[in-house]
Amino acid sequence: MDKRTDLSQLTTEELETELAQRRSRERVAEDSYAVEVGLEAEAHQYVATQLDAYYAAREATQTTASQPCPRCGQLCRVRRPRVQRTIQSLHGVHVLRRHYHYCPRCRTGWFPLDLALGLPDAGDVTARLEQVVLDLGLHGPFAEAAERCALHHGVALSENLVRRVIDRVGRCAQAQTDLGARLRPAAAEVPATLVVQVDGSMLPTRGPDPWREVKVGLVTRSDHIVANKQRGLITEARFVARLGDLDGFKTALTDALHLESRTRKRHAAFGRRASRWRLAMTAVRRRSKVFLRTPL
Ligand SMILES: [Zn+2]
Repeated sequence: MDKRTDLSQLTTEELETELAQRRSRERVAEDSYAVEVGLEAEAHQYVATQLDAYYAAREATQTTASQPCPRCGQLCRVRRPRVQRTIQSLHGVHVLRRHYHYCPRCRTGWFPLDLALGLPDAGDVTARLEQVVLDLGLHGPFAEAAERCALHHGVALSENLVRRVIDRVGRCAQAQTDLGARLRPAAAEVPATLVVQVDGSMLPTRGPDPWREVKVGLVTRSDHIVANKQRGLITEARFVARLGDLDGFKTALTDALHLESRTRKRHAAFGRRASRWRLAMTAVRRRSKVFLRTPL
């Protein structure tokens, strides 16, 4: 590029190509692993800068005018301006200052900017990082989830942060009684046979009960069980689980049956222990007169 070149005449793509070529010449002595890790770190920094700029721009568009209450619609004034919230993303830590509005009629407050940004109601992480933490934290120990997050996404998390996210989102999910139907809508067609399976395990817990039983139930249609090397492979299913709440588990299992089959059709119930098999049968009997008894 000529020194006399007017950079303002170049397109963004031309500038980025020139920059990439210069940087690639600086990296010729490094191996590919070091280059890839280095570029990932640069990408993190780039996204963090972009996110900071985005949050600053959205912050600047805030208004101190009264806002309609999300519950009742009454216009409510700012109670506290520019309340700071620190939030972690996959790429860094960001600080937001949002106006807090309060509705005297509903006796509740809210941050319009948080709603506009789609940030989680509470907690210290963005919706995107929350998604990653949930995926890792629900499929392994919390300490392992934190380690895997660092390896795969280059962000250091504490085991405690994973625990807090899982706990908070879990409580929100539990409070939604129709969550099962929303995640998996009711079956449109009546299945030929519905399979119900129940299992359970004792888990060490904190608090007065050192051991509590968690029960897990599965409801699936016979057409969602396919042959796979002499074993059945379940392609789709509806799951329910409760920790130390037998009545709640029975209700949830019956609701799951109802969503999969609203008519009296044939059901099959399974349970490895007699008590669990009877539990599955209890749910089935409420809904069916014809069933296949096949305890394992
Ligand atoms: Zn209100």
